[in-house]
Amino acid sequence: MYKDIATPVRTKEILQKHGFSFKKSLGQNFLVDSNVLHNIVSCAAITKDTGVIEVGPGIGALTEHLARQAGKVVAFEIDDRLLPVLEDTMSPYPNVTVIHQDVLKADIHQVIEEQFADYEDIVVVANLPYYITTPIIMKFLMEKARVSQLVIMMQKEVADRITAVPSTKAYGSLSIAVQYYMDAEVSMIVPKTVFIPQPNVESAVLSLTRREEPHAPVADEDFLFTVTQGSFLHRRKTLWNNLQSSLPEGQEKKELIQQAFVQSGIDPVRRGETLSIPEFIKLANALYPHFG
Ligand code: SAM
Repeated sequence: MYKDIATPVRTKEILQKHGFSFKKSLGQNFLVDSNVLHNIVSCAAITKDTGVIEVGPGIGALTEHLARQAGKVVAFEIDDRLLPVLEDTMSPYPNVTVIHQDVLKADIHQVIEEQFADYEDIVVVANLPYYITTPIIMKFLMEKARVSQLVIMMQKEVADRITAVPSTKAYGSLSIAVQYYMDAEVSMIVPKTVFIPQPNVESAVLSLTRREEPHAPVADEDFLFTVTQGSFLHRRKTLWNNLQSSLPEGQEKKELIQQAFVQSGIDPVRRGETLSIPEFIKLANALYPHFG
């Protein structure tokens, strides 16, 4: 077994050897605590039959832990200065492939097809750059990538919003968009002190597991998200007011919205933050024939 990368001493040695300086704009906060890494990896059920996608390997602190447990690890890294570093640090792990690409621009289906043809079980594990946490998660969910679980380190505040339940301050269209696809659970709170450089905020590890069954049949997924986003347009306003403003103009708009409220059994004077996901689905399904 090789010495862990994730100690302050070894990380500083690697950074110095390669003359690497952090780019704040790329969300570069590297983990330097092996216990935290063990815990992250144990949140994901990884065996030699598992294929792992990592986003942002940095100098490979998490990557090497994944490589020891998984059959194969494919890691997307945007920063070309890290490629020679990873070539060096990942040399003991032939089951790691680094793809030099912005993950948001990647064709995930193609990568999965090419890299994980022999793998039934694929999981995403990442200490994400905090400036693009939400777009990266939504990319994997909305593009319906063939992954069973995502275990992701992120800003605690974002993890709280994703896992929020109705009638709480943190509940909003992000909670609904993620919980629509996945069961979401905060697995661990992580202090700032385990990173170099330290971020300004507390972090959390979120575990997202694909739901076996949808909450209810949905007429159109994109339209459901149009309705949820529109319902939170102004948090303090009623569903009635928000949907009047956010749905497309057309003949008999008021009457048709009124009709959809009656049909779905949802009281129009409620606020979006009080509706559960099955209630949003009922409302969106009733609005869809007229506004979809
Ligand atoms: N995994 C390492 C660790 O835990 O120590 C580094 C995590 S650091 C928070 C985020 C990493 O994501 C950095 O290496 C950064 O260069 C990379 N990154 C930032 N934006 C990216 C993007 N759009 N696509 C791929 N990698 C990205």
